[in-house]
Amino acid sequence: MANDQPPPIKGFIENSLLDWPGQICAVLFLPYCNLRCPYCHNHQLVLRPDTLETLSLEAILDRLHGFKEWVDGICITGGEPTIHRGLPAMLRRVHEAGFKTKLDTNGTQPETLHYLITENLVDCVAMDVKAPLDDSVYARCAGVYVPVSIIKKSIDVLMAGTVPYVLRCTVTPSMLAESDIYCLAEQLRGLSTETPSSLTAAPLLSLQNFNPADPLDPELKNVQPHTDQALARMQEEVNRILS
Ligand code: SF4
Repeated sequence: MANDQPPPIKGFIENSLLDWPGQICAVLFLPYCNLRCPYCHNHQLVLRPDTLETLSLEAILDRLHGFKEWVDGICITGGEPTIHRGLPAMLRRVHEAGFKTKLDTNGTQPETLHYLITENLVDCVAMDVKAPLDDSVYARCAGVYVPVSIIKKSIDVLMAGTVPYVLRCTVTPSMLAESDIYCLAEQLRGLSTETPSSLTAAPLLSLQNFNPADPLDPELKNVQPHTDQALARMQEEVNRILS
């Protein structure tokens, strides 16, 4: 499945405190995505990556070498990193350079996720779960049809593995009702008891607020995000369901 050529890099943040909780990391942005989430704020990367400069992995690693004492790792995000056949080569190279790796994924490539985990190429995974695990609701939030059986398979891979992970859901008020979020939390709790593994602790579901600044679907610009207080209250209820 793999190819030796690392995928093109279309964006780079030298250090971030937000992308890998508890760690200082650099962030690499890879182009293209197989989904079309209406709330996506990385749509230039998804739809028009050719308009962005391509950056060299080796030049970035050289630059980060000077900050090795305080950069813990490198987060690979997108777009969707797992659609690139050269992703394993990129992760391997990052490890060789002495940095830990975190992968952001939309969970649509469970076999790739399994491969990356079993080959010890990722040290942490953040996976988006777009909606409750129902095909029609999921298609609405992902912008394309995604069989939720694939998403469940990726969650199973994470639950059965030994790599720390978090599941993330972006809460866009016009697309997901509060009851949808709690439905998803109940479904995740159910999945954790079905997984035939010794590591069946309930998953962590982290809610993220919708950002109306520049969504892929311009109609969403008029949607008011939840207040911080409302999101915190929902997160508390999700935590209660999953505890
Ligand atoms: S938000 Fe959706 S469309 Fe945008 S990069 Fe993530 S998975 Fe792809």
